[in-house]
Amino acid sequence: MKRILVTGGAGFIGSHLCERLLEAGHEVLCVDNFYTGSRRNVAHLLGNPAFELMRHDVTFPLFAEIDEVYNLACPASPVHYQFDPVQTTKTSVHGAINMLGLAKRRRAKIFQASTSEVYGDPAVHPQTEDYWGNVNPIGIRSCYDEGKRCAETLFFDYHRQHGLRIKVARIFNTYGPRMHPNDGRVVSNFIVQALQGQDITLYGEGLQTRSFCFVDDLVEGVLRLMDTPDDVTGPVNLGNPGEFTIRALAERVIALTGSSSRLVHMPLPSDDPRQRRPDISLAGQLLDWKPTIELDEGLTRTIAYFDNLLASEPV
Ligand code: NAD
Ligand code: UDP
Ligand code: UDP
Repeated sequence: MKRILVTGGAGFIGSHLCERLLEAGHEVLCVDNFYTGSRRNVAHLLGNPAFELMRHDVTFPLFAEIDEVYNLACPASPVHYQFDPVQTTKTSVHGAINMLGLAKRRRAKIFQASTSEVYGDPAVHPQTEDYWGNVNPIGIRSCYDEGKRCAETLFFDYHRQHGLRIKVARIFNTYGPRMHPNDGRVVSNFIVQALQGQDITLYGEGLQTRSFCFVDDLVEGVLRLMDTPDDVTGPVNLGNPGEFTIRALAERVIALTGSSSRLVHMPLPSDDPRQRRPDISLAGQLLDWKPTIELDEGLTRTIAYFDNLLASEPV
């Protein structure tokens, strides 16, 4: 039994991770400032004596007596991370410094939720971990991309300089229950639009591609990475290599919901990556991991979640 800190634990992925850690018999300290996450995501865990929820912003120091850290705090949807871009960079950079300082004092192993966005609009396809990326340093996505890149730098410098045990995962687009209905990311947008009979908003021609990983698969990969021997630091790609155009995703959502929604085109945001697919050979070798949930099955489960949610509280 370990005492484990999960930052961003009241968010979409964080709440699933807290659940799995509690199931494994650990004590979980969930730290979140509720910027994009909510108490509701962890409401079902509050009665568990091994679970503690604390409102705190990771850009400020945190003193807690823990054995392991999973650092997930950071808004992940472009709409939210662009709303207050300076705070987004601070969350990634100051948040990483504080959590690394905490891990250093505690001699604790620390995980960083990095992102496929470190590859930017990639010139190498599919993306392997040794690709250095193609990121605009001054664009509207840079607060997120460069913040996460700097966090990776800090992790590797604390590892080299202070001997910290680090685990860095580059997470590709992940979806599933507990995404916020107004999150702004493509899967939740399309499902909510389809269920409410609204137009489905394709940005640009919808020919850009993404690879979508169901959250249960992702969390399994994260846990396996944390369990590797100390010489495994990553970065390791975690994602589902099935690649779809955004238009194809919209068509799957319409088919699975039986919706009569129409597809409409909206302007393509600037710096929107044209293609993205993980090469997950390294995760296969190191973690014996690969996703098991196909897009249709994951979408069906996510649609059921939103169907319930919208029935109880329309958005
Ligand atoms: P999310 O927005 O649901 O979760 C982020 C959580 O961090 C929220 O609960 C939010 O309130 C919290 N948070 C934000 N700023 C904070 C701060 N300063 N202090 C404390 N808490 C703060 O997003 P998610 O999809 O669950 O993403 C979790 C992590 O995984 C993020 O670091 C994200 O960058 C990374 N990631 C996610 C994806 C994806 O597709 N979901 C892909 C790549 C990387
Ligand atoms: N820190 C923290 N919790 C701790 C230990 C450190 O939040 O338990 C913060 C500390 O405030 C500092 C940061 O982590 O700003 C980096 O710590 P480190 O020891 O690496 O650097 P220093 O304190 O020497 O600046
Ligand atoms: N997108 C879209 N319609 C939406 C939301 C997003 O066409 O309502 C597109 C977006 O332009 C991007 C892709 O879907 O090309 C994935 O967007 P998301 O915000 O989910 O994540 P990203 O991978 O861009 O960070």
